[in-house]
Amino acid sequence: MPIYDYECTDCGSVFEWIVDRGGNPPPCPSCGGRQTRKLMAAPAVHIKTDRTAARIEKRVKDYLKDGKVSDATRFADKAASMVQSDQVKRIADKLHEKTSR
Ligand SMILES: [Zn+2]
Repeated sequence: MPIYDYECTDCGSVFEWIVDRGGNPPPCPSCGGRQTRKLMAAPAVHIKTDRTAARIEKRVKDYLKDGKVSDATRFADKAASMVQSDQVKRIADKLHEKTSR
């Protein structure tokens, strides 16, 4: 899945986002605003893995906060399959431990 740059029209911050199915615009990681738009640039080729992992972890925590463990697990699996990052794999593994209990 491609990673695109998004811009928040509220606070102007630019961030990367993994575009998943549905294509809903992601919320702004800085201000939480939903007024974000995809920048017309090519998908980012260089994945800044540590920042991406941090973002994935935050998204997973948001899911868990809402009690959506299966959604969190699905998201983490998807992220781990496309981001070559031990950190992301650990997040996914931890979720599997949680759900297998
Ligand atoms: Zn913002």
